[in-house]
Amino acid sequence: MASLKPGNELEPPPARRVPITFVPQPSFRHLVEDGETWETVAAKFGIDVKELIFANFKTLIPQEINWYLHHYVECNVPTADGYNWRFSASARRNGNPRAGVIFIPMKTASGPAAAPAAGNGLDQLVKDTAQMKKDLESIRKSLREGQAALRDLLFEAYKKYNTNRSLKYLSRDELTMLPEFIECMIIASRQVGPFLNKHPSASNFNVSSPVGDIVSSVGEHEDYTFSSDMRKRGFSVDQNTRGVYDWHDRSIHLQMGATLGHAVHEGVHSFSSFSTEMPVFLSTLGSFLYEGVTQVFTDQVISDHQWDGANHGYHDEVTCARAFLREFTVIVVANAYFRRQIAPLAEAVARKLRINLDQLRRLKDIQTNGRSGRDLCEKLGYI
Ligand SMILES: [Zn+2]
Repeated sequence: MASLKPGNELEPPPARRVPITFVPQPSFRHLVEDGETWETVAAKFGIDVKELIFANFKTLIPQEINWYLHHYVECNVPTADGYNWRFSASARRNGNPRAGVIFIPMKTASGPAAAPAAGNGLDQLVKDTAQMKKDLESIRKSLREGQAALRDLLFEAYKKYNTNRSLKYLSRDELTMLPEFIECMIIASRQVGPFLNKHPSASNFNVSSPVGDIVSSVGEHEDYTFSSDMRKRGFSVDQNTRGVYDWHDRSIHLQMGATLGHAVHEGVHSFSSFSTEMPVFLSTLGSFLYEGVTQVFTDQVISDHQWDGANHGYHDEVTCARAFLREFTVIVVANAYFRRQIAPLAEAVARKLRINLDQLRRLKDIQTNGRSGRDLCEKLGYI
């Protein structure tokens, strides 16, 4: 295990230690590469190096920067003199979306957050804690604007790709921006976005978002190893499955052949659970309706941004979900899916079938071709 020479790492005091989930707003993520330094990254994006460091860690104290690089970014290669951590691609790690990532602050109308003048010492920074809290609040307040700006920016960047283009053709830089892009698409969707208002999984590009993990999973799975990788996680997948949202650790996994449309689909899934519990819509109504409704919401997100329709293998599921949404209304179904308000929907479904909730549970558990809930759709008369 590599380490620095003693004394070169200092844990910042709790009062001003930024949490591991801290993301400067507005910003976009950057995966560090072998040979990169703060200086080369700052030059690449046309920003001041101190501004870049301060935006990430709210400190310019070298020992504290080293602590964050070691514990948050998981840098593991020391400089030749052993005084500092270096960036390297080896810092990236599946399972920690923060590993190998630094954030590039974006300039806002009022200009980037000013870094403290050189010479500001530890004492001054401790005094500045109150000011920093105020700054953070105003950053959060301007988040809505920042999202709109980010959406426009990313839309420009992605205009050349269609919905059904494979993610493997995206460049590293484009892949790096993908999680923010997908999450932005979903939150900014006219039809789906309103249901995510104050949603606990809506991360506002927070690194703890499962959407934020997309970037580490693309290219992780060769087409032929995807199903066995997913089986190890307890998911059975067929040849139509291009992605999996695993709520156990809120991670998204995409096969090599996955497209932007598939990534949006998995992103929608990630908003169907609040934390690491099984999505209540899935556990109550089965995977047939769960996939169908997920795809309908995905199609809404995509059409709201005037993208081409997504190719997918869920035709029967979508037919069933459309009839289901017509009958039980978008609001009731979306509240069950995104907000866990499942009782009104489950009761309405049981009422229609003249069965009780126990019988509904048994009905949705019937398996057809490895998927639960097809019988329920048949009983409802949709297929
Ligand atoms: Zn799905």
